[in-house]
Parts: sequence; C-alpha cells; structure tokens
Amino acid sequence: PRLANQIAAGEVVERPASVVKELVENAIDAGSRRIEVELEAGGTRLIRVRDDGSGIGEADLPLALSRHATSKIVSLEELEGVASLGFRGEALASISSVSRLELVSNADEDPTAGWRVVAEGRNMEPRVSPAPHARGTSVTVRDLFFNTPARRKFLRTEKTEFGHVEEAFRRQALSRYDIGWTLRHNQKTLHQLRPGEDQASRERRIASLLGRAFLENALHLDLAASGLRLWGWVGLPTHSRAQADQQYFFVNGRVVRDRLVAHAVRQAYRDVLFSGRHPVFVLYLEVEPSVVDVNVHPTKHEVRFRDGRLVHDFLFSSLHRALGEARA
Ligand code: ADP
Ligand code: MG
Repeated sequence: PRLANQIAAGEVVERPASVVKELVENAIDAGSRRIEVELEAGGTRLIRVRDDGSGIGEADLPLALSRHATSKIVSLEELEGVASLGFRGEALASISSVSRLELVSNADEDPTAGWRVVAEGRNMEPRVSPAPHARGTSVTVRDLFFNTPARRKFLRTEKTEFGHVEEAFRRQALSRYDIGWTLRHNQKTLHQLRPGEDQASRERRIASLLGRAFLENALHLDLAASGLRLWGWVGLPTHSRAQADQQYFFVNGRVVRDRLVAHAVRQAYRDVLFSGRHPVFVLYLEVEPSVVDVNVHPTKHEVRFRDGRLVHDFLFSSLHRALGEARA
C-alpha cells in the first residue's frame, strides 16, 4: 500500500506548494478560524500547517493517514454536490509516503489533551501517543521527497519553490476573509492577515497580498443582477508593468480558471480602456445555485455554468459599466 501511495503521490504532490494547498484545504474543511503556514527552505526542509479547527479524535488519527480514508463523503452520489474541498482521502496518505510526516491533533476543548501520530516514508509507525495541543491540528512535513530522489531532483531553487507556495497561500487567503492567516518562511513572518469581512479589512488583505500599488490603482466594484453578483477589484492600467499572473477569479468562494470568464474581462478592458493585455484583478462571482448550475471540478479549478452566456454577458456588462464610470 505504501507503493500505491507513492504512485498516487505523483498526482497529488508535485512540490511544496501542492503540500501546502492540500494541508490548508484540510484546515479550511475542519472549520478553522486561524491557519498558520510555516516553511523552511522553500518548504523542502519543513512545511507546517497549524489550525484551530475541529481536530481529529484519537481513534481516527491513524485512519487519517491511510489511503481513501475520508470523513467527508459517504456515497458516490454525494460527489456531485460535494461542498468540502477535499474528498478523495488521498492527500495525507500520499504526502506521508514521500516525506516524514507528523500529525498532532486535539478534538477536545481541554488544551492538555491531544494525540500525535508519525509516518516516515514507507515505514509507517501507526502508534498514537499523547501530545498536548490546543483544539485543532498541526501537520508537519519534513524532507519532502527524501525517499524519492528522482522527484527531489525536480525541485527548483528555494526561492522558486517558495514563490509557488506564496501563490497558493495568496489564492487561499483571498478566498476566505473570515479566516485569519499567517505565512512564515525561515523564521520570518511575511503575511499576518487578520480576519474581517468589512471593506477596510478586505483592502488591508489585498494590500498585503498584492501590494499597495495594485490597490491604489484599482477600482472597487460590486454589482448584482439576475441572481448574479460580481464584486472585487480591477486594476487600472498604470505605468508599472502589470504581472500577467495577477488574475484571481473566484466562483462561490472557489478559485476558478475559466476561458469564458477571461474572455469577458479582456473584452471589457479592450472596449473601454483600449488595453487588455494583462488586466490585473481580484474578482468574486457569486451565483445562486437556482439560477446557474455551477459545477466546479474539485481539483482542476474548472467550472461549468449551465447558462454560460448569462454569466459572460453579466461579467462583460458589469466591468464595462464600472470601467466606463472610472474613466469618465
Ligand atoms: P480528504 O481531505 O480528501 O478527506 P486527506 O488525506 O486530505 O483526505 O485527509 C484525510 C482525513 O483526515 C480527512 O477526511 C479528515 O477527516 C482528516 N483531517 C485531515 N486534516 C485535518 C485537519 N486539519 N483537521 C481536521 N481533520 C483533518
Ligand atoms: Mg484533503
């Protein structure tokens, strides 16, 4: 089974950023209010995600590390309407098969309670021992790919790997303003984001994650029509070179990359500002399930709208209007 896990790990675990993504998704699924991400050496030496979520009880701890053990889905039919981010029950098993993984968790309110389980490459030690932890979970992943040298060779420099981690962190922090976040690298705190869903808190977060310059040159919008709502920030063209990758689009709180969406945004920029090469934006589309049937692929960040035309036209006209008003 460890070999199967290592093969599966190839699909789930590509680099430190994919580990961070999976661990943070678990923390979100556990209903956490605070999530701390800590790394050493770009995540190649250490990745730790600590949360204050529901925790895992003693009996469930070894299970959490075994393949296809998920607490999130009961039947295949449920896959259709899956609301949680993870559901395959593969991430922890896969990660632990290619690293030294330690899981400490406490599902109790008693802060002296808590349990620890360790797995190291193929030699799993399913023994659970007591370890105090505040309510919640800490997962520590050390020496990623220590036992799969071929994969380890594919890792880039510390700086590049950390760049990917920061990007994953950015997307996740932008998806949940109600959660407080911390990102630390080599003992240095890079982001400390307090929770808050009011405008000021959101803008503080945008400034921290995307830079003051983006926020100062961005237009805030919030428009609703026919069961759709679009809000967020669109960057206005500036003299500074816009980064092509600063395009964040969320549908009902989930990161989505979609051609139809990209087209609508580009078209509006081109029409109004005569420039649409690299629009920079953070946009949130909220759709009522009754109006547009959204089908988000759980891992691929793809979305399928029942009425794509409606969504495209709403995005285009909303942005057209907002950009036009800003220009006038
Ligand atoms: P999945 O998320 O697809 O269910 P994972 O391998 O990521 O599979 O996690 C396995 C199980 O371990 C989860 O279903 C959940 O019950 C438990 N788990 C993992 N991380 C956490 C966490 N941070 N807090 C609470 N439970 C967790
Ligand atoms: Mg998961």
